[in-house]
Amino acid sequence: MVESLGEAHDLGWEIFVKCAAPNREGLKLVRQCLWSYRLDMHTMIATRGRNMPLVKIGERIKCPRCGSMRIEVMFSPPPEKSRNSQLIRAVQRPR
Ligand SMILES: [Zn+2]
Repeated sequence: MVESLGEAHDLGWEIFVKCAAPNREGLKLVRQCLWSYRLDMHTMIATRGRNMPLVKIGERIKCPRCGSMRIEVMFSPPPEKSRNSQLIRAVQRPR
């Protein structure tokens, strides 16, 4: 179970954030903010620390476009295939 920024970084995960502001204000329909961004892992660890829990990331981010505090956070583990090929390469490395 990956719970902290440091663990996610070690596994090569990427973090994407997306503005989740509702597209209506009361009864008025407003243009939906479509801001999304890939967070830089190194910056996150440098500023928040390796022990920062992944569940807390969304609480600290505010949409730079519309100012909404409703942010959706998505984690993207590296594709299974590339991890396997790295393992294979490590095993086959000549002595
Ligand atoms: Zn927004």
